[in-house]
Amino acid sequence: MRLSRYFLPVLKETPSEAQIASHRLMLRAGMIKQSSAGIYSWLPLGFKVLRKLENIVHEEQVRAGHIPMLMPTLQSADLWRESGRYDAYGPEMLRIRDRQDRDLLYGPTNEELITDIFRSHVGSYRDLPLTLYHIQWKFRDEIRPRFGVMRGREFLMKDGYNFDLTKEDALHAYNRHLVSYLRTYERMGLQAIPMRAESGPIGGDNTHEFLVLAETGESGVFYDSEITDLRFGDREIDYNSVEQCAEILEEFTSRYARTDDMHDQDAFEAQVPEDRRREARGIEVGQIFYFGTKYSEPMGATVQGPDGKAVPVHMGSHGIGVSRLVGAIIEASHDEKGIIWPEGVTPFHAGIVNLKQGDSEADGACEAIYASLQALGLEPLYDDRDERAGGKFATMDLIGLPWRITVGPRGLKNGVVELTSRRTSQSEELPPEQAVEKLAKIYL
Ligand code: ATP
Ligand code: MG
Repeated sequence: MRLSRYFLPVLKETPSEAQIASHRLMLRAGMIKQSSAGIYSWLPLGFKVLRKLENIVHEEQVRAGHIPMLMPTLQSADLWRESGRYDAYGPEMLRIRDRQDRDLLYGPTNEELITDIFRSHVGSYRDLPLTLYHIQWKFRDEIRPRFGVMRGREFLMKDGYNFDLTKEDALHAYNRHLVSYLRTYERMGLQAIPMRAESGPIGGDNTHEFLVLAETGESGVFYDSEITDLRFGDREIDYNSVEQCAEILEEFTSRYARTDDMHDQDAFEAQVPEDRRREARGIEVGQIFYFGTKYSEPMGATVQGPDGKAVPVHMGSHGIGVSRLVGAIIEASHDEKGIIWPEGVTPFHAGIVNLKQGDSEADGACEAIYASLQALGLEPLYDDRDERAGGKFATMDLIGLPWRITVGPRGLKNGVVELTSRRTSQSEELPPEQAVEKLAKIYL
């Protein structure tokens, strides 16, 4: 993409309404624009990151054997009356009436809808296990939407639902989700720690939240510092292996880690030596639940078991806050100059800064680098505007591309360009082909 043709409405001023870094930076970098309280348009740069996160989520869900689909945002109130949640959900639910006077709602979550799909089409235990998921916009009329996309009213969530014959099978689905989430967050360059949490309006007693540690997080957390040394890494995983998934769950959840509503100071002190006790804040980026037959029973989602008897299926639901993650990644990775994207989620792989637009040699070198990066399947953002170098650097630093190639007449005289890491600020001078090769090694 050439910056002169792109739509990147960066702001010079720091927007006064934004209280935390990620919100400020997303506005300044032209990623989002608020349309009304807690509702945002995703401008091209923000949209690109959102799509990257969605792709990672899809890939990891499919790898775990989960099946993608898409349910609507608007749902019929009748389904929610069946589960008893229409009245229970309260003012967070946006209720709508259509021209036929039928009650609709903008889905805050999808347990009812998916259970209805399941009961209409699945009748035998032979069709289990089954896990379906989608990535769809949700609406919750939050009392205090704030921090930009972190606590929006309209937000993008991946929500997945498992259907199993027995509790044991459903707990394997729970473990499988935990493992797939660990992989997902690590690919986004994040450490998200599974913590014991409260289940809220979804219900059930088996639940973990995934928290990214950050001072600006809304959740208070208590944990054993040893947890922060754990990495999933690139280990092989067989998602059908009950044993392997259970082992990984054990590895990542056996140490004390709880959100404040589940915190128990006595247990904390008994389990964790004093020098490893941490009290901090975190951003909730996902949650998994096992809730058994809470929905399948009242809604009649049964299958015929091996003995011919109809039994309600055991279910769980599992969410990832896709749009919140954009903010969470920035909270975890920025400095005073702007965003620092982890390589796995960056909107463009590298920026090209032409120090002397209009100089035929510099223009030619930039075009050649641009073309070779594209030929490799990488996406460069070429700042081809006729602007001062300082302004170009400031824009690149603000939007946070992990790598920048700087091209100017002086370097070209010696046959070199400069490759700079956004994270370390370290630069090295290289012939243009070698800079391209280095990026290929990093990304491909
Ligand atoms: P919270 O406690 O932050 O209100 P929740 O526990 O009600 O969230 P879940 O039902 O677990 O949310 O939804 C799954 C994920 O969706 C959450 O882990 C979070 O990352 C994301 N999410 C929930 N509410 C919002 C929101 N208002 N804005 C953006 N993302 C959200
Ligand atoms: Mg939650």
